[in-house]
Amino acid sequence: MVTAVDCPTCSKKVEWTETNKYRPFCSERCKQIDLGAWAEEKYVIPAKSEQENIGQNADDQTAL
Ligand SMILES: [Zn+2]
Repeated sequence: MVTAVDCPTCSKKVEWTETNKYRPFCSERCKQIDLGAWAEEKYVIPAKSEQENIGQNADDQTAL
């Protein structure tokens, strides 16, 4: 008898076994997606504001 859990990323059934080192995820990919989800958001914020600043500067130069 094997315990099965739902993958937090894709909700696929995952067998909770000693050999599944990605549990509770179904694969390394789903594990990376879940772990990287919040980290990517962190990176997006400074990148966005930087682009906005560049855009504003460009607009100012055009106006002048
Ligand atoms: Zn998955």
